[in-house]
Amino acid sequence: MTRWIAPAFLCLLCAVPAGAQDAADSVAPEAATRLPAAFEGLSPEAEAAFRVKSDNKSVKAEEWMVAAANPLAVQAGAKVLGDGGSAADAMVAVQAVLGLVEPQSSGLGGGAFLVWYDGETGELTTLDARETAPLGATPRLFQDAGGEPLKFWDAVVGGLSVGTPGTPKLLEEAHRRWGRANWTGLFSEAIELAETGFRVSPRLAELVDGDQERLQSAPATAAYFMPGGQPIRAGDRLRNPDYAATLRAIAAEGSGAFYAGEIARDIVTTVREAATPGELSAVDLALYKVIERPAVCADYRDFDICGMGPPSSGGLTVGQILGLLEGFDLAGMGPDSPNAWRLIGDASRLAFADRGRYMADSDFVPVPAEGLLAPDYLASRAALLKRGKALPEVEPGAPEWDHAQLWADDESIEFPSTSHISIIDAYGNALSMTTTIENGFGSRLMVRGFLLNNELTDFSFKSHADGVPIANRVAPGKRPRSSMAPTIVLRDGRPRLVIGSPGGSRIIGYVAQAIIAHLDWKMGVQPALAMPHLVNRFGTYDIEEGTEAEGLATRLDEMGFKTNLRALNSGLHAIAVRPTGLAGGADPRREGIAIGK
Ligand code: GLU
Repeated sequence: MTRWIAPAFLCLLCAVPAGAQDAADSVAPEAATRLPAAFEGLSPEAEAAFRVKSDNKSVKAEEWMVAAANPLAVQAGAKVLGDGGSAADAMVAVQAVLGLVEPQSSGLGGGAFLVWYDGETGELTTLDARETAPLGATPRLFQDAGGEPLKFWDAVVGGLSVGTPGTPKLLEEAHRRWGRANWTGLFSEAIELAETGFRVSPRLAELVDGDQERLQSAPATAAYFMPGGQPIRAGDRLRNPDYAATLRAIAAEGSGAFYAGEIARDIVTTVREAATPGELSAVDLALYKVIERPAVCADYRDFDICGMGPPSSGGLTVGQILGLLEGFDLAGMGPDSPNAWRLIGDASRLAFADRGRYMADSDFVPVPAEGLLAPDYLASRAALLKRGKALPEVEPGAPEWDHAQLWADDESIEFPSTSHISIIDAYGNALSMTTTIENGFGSRLMVRGFLLNNELTDFSFKSHADGVPIANRVAPGKRPRSSMAPTIVLRDGRPRLVIGSPGGSRIIGYVAQAIIAHLDWKMGVQPALAMPHLVNRFGTYDIEEGTEAEGLATRLDEMGFKTNLRALNSGLHAIAVRPTGLAGGADPRREGIAIGK
C-alpha cells in the first residue's frame, strides 16, 4: 500500500516518493489531484486547493483563511468566514462537520485546546477543554487487583477510559467570547450533511477496515461503522441522523443539552453499562468547566512561540526544544545537515526527559513552567549539546521552582488520532485548536451519533515508581497530560504563523520541525509541512520511511543514535501571515486543505 504525499521538491529532504506503511496510517494511493473525487459537492475553491496542494504550493489569500483535515469541514468554515463570521464562528462549523466526516479523530465526545489571538486587543488567550477524570476515579484506575498496569487495549476499549468531554462547552465558550454569527446557523452544514449523507473518505474507510474487531465490541458502534457486519467503504453514502439530532439540540439549547438531560443520561448509561464499565456520572458532566489558562510563550530568535500550557506538555516541550536550539546556527546548517538533525534530536530528548518528570495537570501538581523555559536553565541544558555525537544518556534537569517536589518519570502510552484546525479571520483574529478523542475511534463507545473519548489513557497507568509518585497519575477531577501543541508564533506581538498537528507525543516534534523549516530554513508553509519527518523523543530516532530522509540514517547511526524507519503520520495545518498576505498549507499525509479569500 502506498501513501499519497506531495511529489515535487527542491532539496534532498523535500523529495518524497511514496512508501509502504501501516494500514492504520495510510491514505488511499490517489494522487492529490484525484482525491477530490472521493468527496461530493466540493466547491471550486476546494477543488483548486487540492491542485495547489498537489503542487506542494501554499494557498494564498488576503482577508481570511481556514485549514483543517477534511475538505467538507474546511468548506463549512470558509462559508462562515465568507459571510462575515469570526474565526471562533468558523471553528464551530468546522468542528461540527469534522465530528461527522472524521469521527475517528475528534468530536462532541472528546476534548480540545484552543489558542486565540485577539485582533483588536493583541491579547493571547488559551482555553483548556481537556477531558477530566470522573470524581469516582482513583490513581489505580488502570491497574489490576495486584496493582499491575492493565494492558493498553484492555484500558482503551470500553467505559474505563472515558473522561468528561470538553468539546461541546468549548464551542459554546469560544462563541460566547468571540462569536459574531448566530449560534444556531453554525451547525446547519453539519446537520444537513448528517441527514442527507456524506461520502465516506478513503482514510475513514481504511481506518474502519483496520479496526473491525474493536469496533465490533459495542453494538451501536458496530451498527454504524459496520452495517450488516460489513465495514463501510470509501465512497459509500453514510447518514448519521442521531448526530443530526444531537447537533439540533445543541444548536437550539446550547451545551446544556449535552451536559444535562437525555444526552447526558445516555452518555452515562453507555459508559457504565459497557463491557468494561467506567466511573463517569451525571455529576461529572454537570460540573464540567472550560478553563482559561495563561499562554506559555518561549523566545526563539525574533519570535515568540506561544501555545498551550499544562495540562498539555505541548507548549512547554516545543518551547524547550526551540529554546535549546536558540544558540545554534540551524539556518546556516540547512535541512540536509546531519549535524542539524543531531542537535534537533538531542534537544528533543532533553525536553522529553523534563516532560516525563515534571509535566502534568498544574491544578493538581506544581509544574515548574517558568523554570523549564528560563533562559539560564535552557543555556545550561543546551551546553550538553556541544559535542559531535549523540548524547549517550539523557536525564531530566533541575529547573528552578517554588514548590520543589520530586516526581518519578511518567509511563503513559499514546497512539495517534486527533485533528488540528488553523484559522485567521478578516478581523485579524487567529485561532489554533487541536481537538481529539485520543485513540482512533476513542473508547469505541458510540452514543447519539458520536464517539466517546478514551482520553484517560493519557494518564500514567502506574501511580508510583519505586514508591515515588508520578506527576501524571490519575486523580479525581484531574486532566490527563497531553502532547497537543496548538501554537501561534508571534513577531513584534502580531501573528506570524498559526500551526498544530495530531500525532500523539510526536506532535511536539512535528510542530517544532515545521517551525524550524519555516522560520530558519525559509521554506514556504506547504513545503514545511510536507517535508519528511525525523522525530526523537526517548532515544530512538524515528525517520519517515519511504522518503529521502532515509538517507540521513547512516550518518545518525554513526553519531550514536539508534534509528528506526517508520510511517510518521502527522496532520499539520498552518497559516503564515506575510506582508503580502496569508499563505496556508495542509499536511499531504491527510485529506485536508486550506481555503482562503
Ligand atoms: N491524546 C493525545 C494528546 O492529548 C493526542 C493523540 C493524538 O494526537 O493522536 O496528547
